[in-house]
Formats: sequence, structure tokens, C-alpha cells
Amino acid sequence: MTDCLFCRMVAGEIPADVVHETDRTLAFRDINPQAPTHVLVVPKDHHPTVASLAGADPDLLSAVVRAAHAVAVQEGLATEYDVEPGYRVVTNTGPAAGQTVHHVHLHVLGGRHMNWPPG
Ligand code: C5P
Repeated sequence: MTDCLFCRMVAGEIPADVVHETDRTLAFRDINPQAPTHVLVVPKDHHPTVASLAGADPDLLSAVVRAAHAVAVQEGLATEYDVEPGYRVVTNTGPAAGQTVHHVHLHVLGGRHMNWPPG
């Protein structure tokens, strides 16, 4: 998947501001942050959407969610066992939701009050 931006970041071909890494996941700061903390968590393997990832490799989906929580802990948005002050995880899926990069990613957002419903 050499034409995939996030695959190229995982491969180190395009620079990323990496904040967390496991053997199967990478987390880096969004270049256009929408909150004081805005980190993207991706699986190192290419899967287009969260649904396709869930079908193909549920263990990897679990690893991505656990990495998102680890990022939140690192950023002071939660602890291992508590979710104070809290954070938001967003996964845009498809064009109507605004997905622009077709390599599944969790947006981890926090550091400000989150409104609902989202825009
Ligand atoms: O959910 P969506 O697919 O729109 O999210 C893609 C995200 O990737 C955007 O928030 C965008 O700012 C981010 N991005 C990035 N680095 C790039 C290109 C896009 O962090 N080089």
C-alpha cells in the first residue's frame, strides 16, 4: 500500500510526530489539531475502515482501542482505571462522515469540553 499516507508514515517514509507505538499500532499527532490533544491511532497493517478491521482482525482492533486509551493516559486525560477528565474517540467511516484517509484511524481528542452532537 505504498500510495497510502498512513502506511507510508508507519514505514517511516513520511515524518510523523509519534507519541506512542506498539508492535502493531502507531499513534501520532494530527497535523490539523481540533483540540489541545488530537492524536491519530492507526494499526500498522492496512485496513480501510474500522468495520473492515473488525471483520479481518478483531485482536488488532482491540490493540488499537487499547493504544488509544494508553495515549489518553499519557496525555493526562485518563488513568489506567479511570476516565477523568475524559476524552473522545472518533472514527470517521466513509465520505458522509468525512473520512479523508482510507487507512483506519481513531482520533483521540481531549483537553477541552467536547460538545454533542458533533458537527
Ligand atoms: O477522519 P479523517 O480521514 O478525515 O482524518 C484524517 C486526519 O488525518 C485529519 O484529521 C488530518 O488532519 C490528518 N492528517 C495528518 N497528517 C497528514 C494528513 C492528514 O495528521 N499528513
